[in-house]
Amino acid sequence: MRRTTRTIAALVLGLLVLAAVACGKEGSPPVKGPQPGKLPKYRVAKDFRLPGSSTWQNAKRRGHLVVGAKEDQPYMGEKDPATGRYSGFDIEIAKMVAASLGFDPKTIRFTTIASANRETALQNGQIDYYVGTYTINDNRKKLVGFAGPYYLAGQSLLVRTDEDDIHGPQDLDGKRVCSAAGSTTFQRIEADYPKADLVAYDTYSVCVDNLLTYQVDAVTTDDAILIGYAAKVPDELKIVGKPFSEEPYGIGVPRADNALRLAIDDALAANEKNGNWKKAYDATLGLSGVPAPKPPAIDRYPAS
Ligand code: GLU
Repeated sequence: MRRTTRTIAALVLGLLVLAAVACGKEGSPPVKGPQPGKLPKYRVAKDFRLPGSSTWQNAKRRGHLVVGAKEDQPYMGEKDPATGRYSGFDIEIAKMVAASLGFDPKTIRFTTIASANRETALQNGQIDYYVGTYTINDNRKKLVGFAGPYYLAGQSLLVRTDEDDIHGPQDLDGKRVCSAAGSTTFQRIEADYPKADLVAYDTYSVCVDNLLTYQVDAVTTDDAILIGYAAKVPDELKIVGKPFSEEPYGIGVPRADNALRLAIDDALAANEKNGNWKKAYDATLGLSGVPAPKPPAIDRYPAS
């Protein structure tokens, strides 16, 4: 009899632990990601041709687009490990552009490329275009082309909720700060806050794991990325201070393919105008509670 009671007690405890794990820490429900049913549908352009673009022509021959993205940035670009499906604002941008270029978004093959490898992936033809929190700047424009911008982010700081000393980048002296290799956000801390104890990993999710386990004191990258990590464990992580840079997000294309770059600019402009851009934002990054901004002006810069 006593043994039965103990067995039942152990079972009940086990179930309680399971329930607690399923609900996330402190019993809070997991963050709601983009709901497939709420995402906009993009009309696939019929009879679209882009003879001036070798990237487009190769993709047409192949029958689908290959698009580089991130897989560990909630709300922006996240891969579901169970289904292999990618979701987020960047993914929606990639899909609306594909539809305008005459490709069914369902046929896109997404491939994960880390910040440090984006230029090489575009240069060696591994991907047709890249959509993944990719800041447009002059250094990168020497290596790749950029359509857009389609969103304006800003560098920010993520710390644990028990952190009281860090309120902005001026407080990083002697602190362990983590960012992704090859990112503008890593480069900015290195150049402007040399007294910070800066470490780099391939991805921001590894930085966040290190933050949660007290290996680092802060993670720095764009607010659009950090907001997703903070939303996953709001009891443990918070964003502090104001954004301290401007990060205009572009769609990376092979540098020589100006026809593709300008066609993507047209696609972005059309999708901003017809409401798809806002619908996509509301169904993804907008779930963070930040209302849709006005998209930044597209910069159709001349070929060089
Ligand atoms: N937007 C910044 C960059 O392009 C930081 C985010 C990222 O690494 O993707 O470097």
